[in-house]
Amino acid sequence: MGDQDIKKILEKAVSIGSEHVEQGNCASYIPELSKADKHNLGVCILTTGLDKYTMGHTRERFTIQSISKVISLAVALQHCGFDKVFSKMNMEPSGDAFNSLVKLDLTSDKPFNPMINAGAITTAGYLVQEVSFDDMVAYARKLCLDDGIVMDEKVYESEKNNCSRNRAIAYLLQSKGILESNVEESLDMYIRMCSLSVNAESLAGLGLVLANGGRHPESGSRLMDAHAVRVVKTIMMTCGMYDGSGEFAVRVGIPSKSGVGGGILAVVEKSMGIGIYGPSLDEKGNSIGGQRMLEYLSETMGLHMFAE
Ligand code: GLU
Repeated sequence: MGDQDIKKILEKAVSIGSEHVEQGNCASYIPELSKADKHNLGVCILTTGLDKYTMGHTRERFTIQSISKVISLAVALQHCGFDKVFSKMNMEPSGDAFNSLVKLDLTSDKPFNPMINAGAITTAGYLVQEVSFDDMVAYARKLCLDDGIVMDEKVYESEKNNCSRNRAIAYLLQSKGILESNVEESLDMYIRMCSLSVNAESLAGLGLVLANGGRHPESGSRLMDAHAVRVVKTIMMTCGMYDGSGEFAVRVGIPSKSGVGGGILAVVEKSMGIGIYGPSLDEKGNSIGGQRMLEYLSETMGLHMFAE
């Protein structure tokens, strides 16, 4: 497929995505996120052959939100190892909203997976024993191939002032003996990670490193342990799109992770990273235009894991 073909496909993808943004809304649980323009849409593709394709709003920065769960899990696996990380949480889709605590309290003694808030706060509890937040920013920059990543102070403050539900989850985890680190420190690490500012290009960078098995696309140097990368990608496939993960896997078939800031990170194995920005969300918290764009790209470029 030539450069011009890919550009045309991206142009069409953005136009298809745009037809749907009106049906969704920006996240409104904190004022900072509701200020985004819901009509913005952007897509960036970075290939293992080092080609870059962009269309639309790919440089605009927004907060990574739940996509940080991918970075946090990768770093926790790297520092603590698989057995320790999964001694306190499972790897099953929950079928519930990302911030639900119902099943955690009633039916399960462990968070369902590291991609929902309960799991990610558990992961943050491991991280605070091993690394500082500055270390995590350095990891995020390295893995996203983006030295411009910083914490968005306004979003952080806003999150911090509106985190009752996550605080409730964190204390419930402590009461069950799952979260053993200091609760407030773990919660703070979780919120800081959600407040990192990225753009569609940074997400494509992260996707490319994951598609490349954890190696830097140019130098080939190892940025992340290969097993950790495999675990992360598999959990993205089964749990990355909130309680819409099953349908997304059928329709798009690319391991992905979304965040309520409007980002989607997608990993096409051994081939490319795709970063999406589109802050208009569906009721599950996934970028509404972003999902349509990825479905179109998957179909036209044959990117589904089980493409014919
Ligand atoms: N800061 C959000 C929360 O913890 C992140 C949610 C998300 O992107 O799914 O509620």
